[in-house]
Amino acid sequence: MIPSEINKQSANSEKFKKLGKQLESALNEVETMRKQQNELVTHVEKLVSSVERQNSIRKEILKRANFNPISGLPNHNLLDSNLMSFFDSGKGDSKPGALVLLQLDNNFDMISKTQESLIGSWLVYRTGLRLRKYIGKNGSVYHIRDEKFLLHIFKANTATEFAPFLIKIDRQISKPYIFASQHIVIGCVIGATLYPTDGNNKNALLNNADIALSEARRKNRNYAFFEPKMLDDAVRMMKTRSSMIQALEKNAVDKISKQLYLNLQPIVSISQIKKNKPIIENINAEALIRWRHPIEGNVPPDAFIPIAEETGVIIVIGKWVLYKAAAQIEVWEWQQIKSKLAINVSPRQFHNDDLIDSIRRIIKNRRINPEKLQIEITENSFLDDPYDATKKISRLKDLGISVAIDDFGTGFSSINYLKQLPVDAVKIDRSFVEDLTTSANGYSIVKAIIALTQELGMTNIAEGVETWEQLELLMQLGISTFQGFLFSKALSPDDYAEFYRRYKEY
Ligand code: C2E
Ligand code: MG
Ligand code: MG
Repeated sequence: MIPSEINKQSANSEKFKKLGKQLESALNEVETMRKQQNELVTHVEKLVSSVERQNSIRKEILKRANFNPISGLPNHNLLDSNLMSFFDSGKGDSKPGALVLLQLDNNFDMISKTQESLIGSWLVYRTGLRLRKYIGKNGSVYHIRDEKFLLHIFKANTATEFAPFLIKIDRQISKPYIFASQHIVIGCVIGATLYPTDGNNKNALLNNADIALSEARRKNRNYAFFEPKMLDDAVRMMKTRSSMIQALEKNAVDKISKQLYLNLQPIVSISQIKKNKPIIENINAEALIRWRHPIEGNVPPDAFIPIAEETGVIIVIGKWVLYKAAAQIEVWEWQQIKSKLAINVSPRQFHNDDLIDSIRRIIKNRRINPEKLQIEITENSFLDDPYDATKKISRLKDLGISVAIDDFGTGFSSINYLKQLPVDAVKIDRSFVEDLTTSANGYSIVKAIIALTQELGMTNIAEGVETWEQLELLMQLGISTFQGFLFSKALSPDDYAEFYRRYKEY
């Protein structure tokens, strides 16, 4: 090879080396970019799926809030907002129409109570279908309670003209159903009111329809139209009924308050464990009802609360608990005990219209600091009526009262519902604490609940802590508030005061 060629070749190989290096670094750059792009895509995908998930949760919640799960028909919430916009826009003045309240008769009640609940649901579903088919484009059908439907009929002039329509509806409903080769016949009672003749305001008209329905039931008729004179009768009867209830309630409260009492179970907050001793930062309490029956002896709450709930007596008992709890908070003020007191509110009591007013009244009369009161509700309270629950929780919070979800994880609510609720604390059910040290599943569930609730800014309280092992594991998982026999069972108010002081000195 001639020297000039050798020089040329070595110059080329230098050039190739340089090019190779440049190519390598370019490829590296591309690889890094691709990685970054991939990360970005995964991130966006995650975001999209979380937005999608949130949208579907929102849709599901809206659906649950606005439609009856059995009939699939719009419920009282949708009725409320649709009628409000209808009458507010003045449409009720220009075109005469009717609101028709329809209640399935006692036969339905008997069937749904005595037969499998499936038949009751099936009957409700089929009745909804019949109504929707029959009404068609002439109006809207709402399913406002188990056995109650409301029809908004867009055209109705006078009672005389409209009555045949009601008779036909009655006939449609009363046609026999065939279920598992059984013939089932259910009837209905109807109350109707016409607008604008009887009024042009949603609440007044709904009230009219209700009054007309009561009149039809009282007079054993299939239907009745509202008449102004019924209003006076209804007001008179309501007054009598409410004074009777008041008298009954007073009697009942007087009687049971001699047998019922509240015990207080400490709920302790611990900062750390030093030399095998927990350092207690704060003590609150949960009021647990006790019944000393004159004949049966001590009846545990699990044995009588569900019955009280079923029969409605819980409303009276609940008021008594509230009253006693407020008195306890007042006593603590003199005793300089700085605990917060949690009371249990059952689903029926929670959805009772009077709950917020009773609480407000008691707080005002007793002049107690609302921050000293916490309300414990279960997931069922929320599931029964998510719309009412969210509204009530917000109203309690406006009053300065904190709210906790009791026995969390035992109901059927999805963890996602929790995101919608303005609650302060979540009490992890005793069964999970029990499983914590015995099953890997229990550990993962508690861990997941804690992660979610902490992300939502809620506090966790572990219920039913009985052993050191459970306490240590729970503390490792980031919980600092505990209730359980490891610290104390439910105590009499005097013993609670002693427990509190002992901790103060300690
Ligand atoms: P809850 O609200 O979850 O109350 C906690 C229950 O767990 C209490 O049972 C308490 O004694 C028990 N407990 C606490 N720590 C431990 C522990 O370490 N181990 C075990 N095995 N049990 C523990 P209690 O007093 O029998 O009350 C049962 C349920 O009755 C309450 O459950 C609550 O749902 C209901 N209840 C109690 N008082 C009232 C009330 O005033 N109103 C209403 N509506 N319900 C109430
Ligand atoms: Mg409780
Ligand atoms: Mg509980």
